[in-house]
Amino acid sequence: MQKSAFATKMFAVIILIVSVILSLFVLYTPSPSSSPQHFSSERALTYIKEISESPHSVFDADAHEDVRLYIKDTLTTMLGAANVREYNYPISSFSTETGEIRNLLGVIPGKSDTAIMIVGHYDSVPESYGAADDGYALGTMLEIADLYKDQQLENTIYFLFTDAEEMGMDGAAAVVEEKALMSKVGFVINVEARGVSGPAIMFETSPNNKKVIDFYRQANLPVSYSLATAIYQVMPNDTDFTLFRENGMNGVNFAVVEGIEHYHTSLDNYNELNASSIQHYGEQIVPLVDAFTRDAKYSDINYFDADEGSIFFTLLPNVFVSYTGTAANVLHFATLALLIAVTFLLLRGHYMDFRKAIRKLLLFVGIFLGAVLLSVGFAVLTAVIGGVMYFPTYVVVNGSEWTTLLFLLAITAGVLAIYTRLSNSLEKQRTFLFFGIAFQLSLAILTGFLMPGVSFLFFFPALLGIVSLAASIQKNKIMKYLAYATTSLICLLLIVPILKVFFLSLTVGCAPVLVAVLLIHLTVLIPVVRLLWNAGNDAPATATSNTAVADASAQNTDAM
Ligand SMILES: [Zn+2]
Repeated sequence: MQKSAFATKMFAVIILIVSVILSLFVLYTPSPSSSPQHFSSERALTYIKEISESPHSVFDADAHEDVRLYIKDTLTTMLGAANVREYNYPISSFSTETGEIRNLLGVIPGKSDTAIMIVGHYDSVPESYGAADDGYALGTMLEIADLYKDQQLENTIYFLFTDAEEMGMDGAAAVVEEKALMSKVGFVINVEARGVSGPAIMFETSPNNKKVIDFYRQANLPVSYSLATAIYQVMPNDTDFTLFRENGMNGVNFAVVEGIEHYHTSLDNYNELNASSIQHYGEQIVPLVDAFTRDAKYSDINYFDADEGSIFFTLLPNVFVSYTGTAANVLHFATLALLIAVTFLLLRGHYMDFRKAIRKLLLFVGIFLGAVLLSVGFAVLTAVIGGVMYFPTYVVVNGSEWTTLLFLLAITAGVLAIYTRLSNSLEKQRTFLFFGIAFQLSLAILTGFLMPGVSFLFFFPALLGIVSLAASIQKNKIMKYLAYATTSLICLLLIVPILKVFFLSLTVGCAPVLVAVLLIHLTVLIPVVRLLWNAGNDAPATATSNTAVADASAQNTDAM
């Protein structure tokens, strides 16, 4: 093997390792804090400890009332009795011992009546101690109330503690009818938990969220994907936020999703809580509350109204990318024009080989469908072995995170091996890369119209793939390495955390979706990784019996 070829392979390995390591930090959560000036998960935990002493569903009348009184007393001590309001309603869709729904509202008044409203529900489900769901909200809200209690504010803060969310959002349903109150709310932050650990993901926004996302950008360590909002809208799950959204309120919704086996079970208790996750709720929410309450521009109740939505994702900790749906469509078509131009150049110089590659394309389609089918079998088998019902979005089986990871790695390795066999010339490699780009760009254009929030997942691999494709005919080696390495890095930074969040929130049941998303992504990633791997062989090779070099000289007819 040539020296330069060996160095390139080492470079490729290092790039891949660094990319995977970096991608594991995208969902990073901050260290717990106990600082008196900043949001402190330690203090939030002291509130949650009291709240989660026993299950407090609407059917546990005494414990439920104890939690309500604890919150009411804590708020009264912090804010004064005049700033704690009760909203009780005799009507309900279920029978409780009190026959009432009782919401609580804490107020920190600002110069303007316009308010940012933080919402959490204080009821749990039966059996659950409600430590995370929704103790994380309650602890976070009380901690923020304590931080802001004596401050001179431009705008108002509302802390809304709703009742009977778990019964069908009855508390929130009553509140949205309080027109006098709701007409003063400019922004809603709902806090939820569908697990106990991992990042607090901003997983849902109001529609036409351009200004909402511009506002959310101010959060520290934002973790959010427009993909999540797009998918959540078509899922049957609901939280209090659904009602605020349906009533035209602007805002965002947060939840942790790791440790779903705790969700709505007795495992949702104080001992299982994660201080770093609580800190992450606070790190994101406090800057939003701060911006809203310090700047008079938010006194305009219609400030967050917009006519268009944004596409957004977290690339790295505190690197949050967002652009509007209109910009996305312009970018998609500009990239299509770029692809056409690059393809024309490559065809004119005979850098691609459609004739030979197109016959192999059907094989890849077959592999794709086969792998997705195999993953259905894998998911169902996991459910059978684990002794649980198969449900596409909920199969909780111990250890399935490792088997799923191995399964995804095995599929990746399999596709890579087949690809390597079939792409034995540089012309074929470029042609396969072209197919991957064309496929992903088509998906980006299509979703750009149908489900814009999803489009970035296909658009960035397509765009970077074109850059790599164009670089593959350059003489300048540094340019090639840079293009291939950047493409590999960004693709991995996008796909690894997204697959992880999919798995955490939808469990191994969604393995077919994971495999489909992964395979789509691999259509650009694998050809680019192969180009990077072989880039050291692009130099004119002297004849040897070494098969690797023989391969390389086959690739070299056009390279230099
Ligand atoms: Zn909840």
